[in-house]
Amino acid sequence: MNSTVQPVSATAAVVRKAGEPFTIEQVDVAAPRDFEVRVRMTAVGMCHSDIVVRAGHLPVPTPIVLGHEGSGIVEAIGAKVSRVKPGDHVVLSFNSCADCPSCNQGKPAYCYNFMASNFAGVRLSDGSTALSQKGHSVHANFFGQSSFASYAIAHERNTVSVDTSVPLELLGPLGCGIQTGAGAVINSLALKAGEALAIFGGGAVGLSALLGARAVEAGTVIVVEPNAERRALALELGAAHVIDPRATADVLAKIKELSGGGVNHALDTTGNPAVIAVAVETTLANGTLGLLGVPPPDAMLPANMLSMLIRGTVIRYITEGDADPQTFIPQMIALYKAGKFPFDRLIRKFPFDRINEAASASEQGFAIKPVLVF
Ligand SMILES: [Zn+2]
Ligand SMILES: [Zn+2]
Repeated sequence: MNSTVQPVSATAAVVRKAGEPFTIEQVDVAAPRDFEVRVRMTAVGMCHSDIVVRAGHLPVPTPIVLGHEGSGIVEAIGAKVSRVKPGDHVVLSFNSCADCPSCNQGKPAYCYNFMASNFAGVRLSDGSTALSQKGHSVHANFFGQSSFASYAIAHERNTVSVDTSVPLELLGPLGCGIQTGAGAVINSLALKAGEALAIFGGGAVGLSALLGARAVEAGTVIVVEPNAERRALALELGAAHVIDPRATADVLAKIKELSGGGVNHALDTTGNPAVIAVAVETTLANGTLGLLGVPPPDAMLPANMLSMLIRGTVIRYITEGDADPQTFIPQMIALYKAGKFPFDRLIRKFPFDRINEAASASEQGFAIKPVLVF
């Protein structure tokens, strides 16, 4: 505990009960503990998981402050923090335990304590929370940050110092959604220049995968997406072809036709078994189908085993783009500065107090990546 730092009051979007709208309330934010960092938020992206959790499809304790794509300025640090200092521009990413076999191998996205570190609503160490109202605790530590608030408590481990020459209010989504899509292409598939890729779903993650593919000079990229505005944006961002699955009788045949027989790799961002059944057949020999979408809890993979045997197909699930945020977020910023990764094209800004409007714009497909600005 850092005794010289006092608690502060913050404006937060609280979810009182699953399924209810966000309500803007004042909360007290504790002083940062030894390895914690208090960040004055500049902006925060809204990711699909925030919407899924608010709806109650993934249970968390309530009342809770969600938000997990925060960007801001370090305001106070705990006594044992060495990685950042007050005044640093930072992006907050997913949390991990630092002390399991995955974390020890530099693969924090597969932390053995991922659920407890990101979804428990309390600190992993002792079940406490940094947020309260009139002495009653409010659940926090969502993705190790709960950044739908003007101040957030994060951990040194999921706080990434960033280049101050880039507009800080754009950077929060690099902490989750954009990292997930771009990382899947750059880290997981390790897509090579000239290779063809099919992307199923043109939301924030799918279009981030497209940006990642362009950044590594992919060959033909095909995006399958029912929403016309998203298809138009995919073409602007460098997709060679887009397919409307609702207007296409045989999506597999169309992809084979457009790619000259099949793609090197494919990515599914939908989690929909019927879509995955098509995606797995689109790849050429030695292709990988990467799965990013959250599936229904009881879903099984729909894939023909003999067809996969003949092609040596790999199917693999990918969390957070296989990224170590401490290295991958600066890598994405460097690509952005070089003009090779225009992720700002996905962003639509909203004032923080219009968070419910941002959520419905996202759910209805009007905003690819809402960013709430404080
Ligand atoms: Zn771990
Ligand atoms: Zn997310």
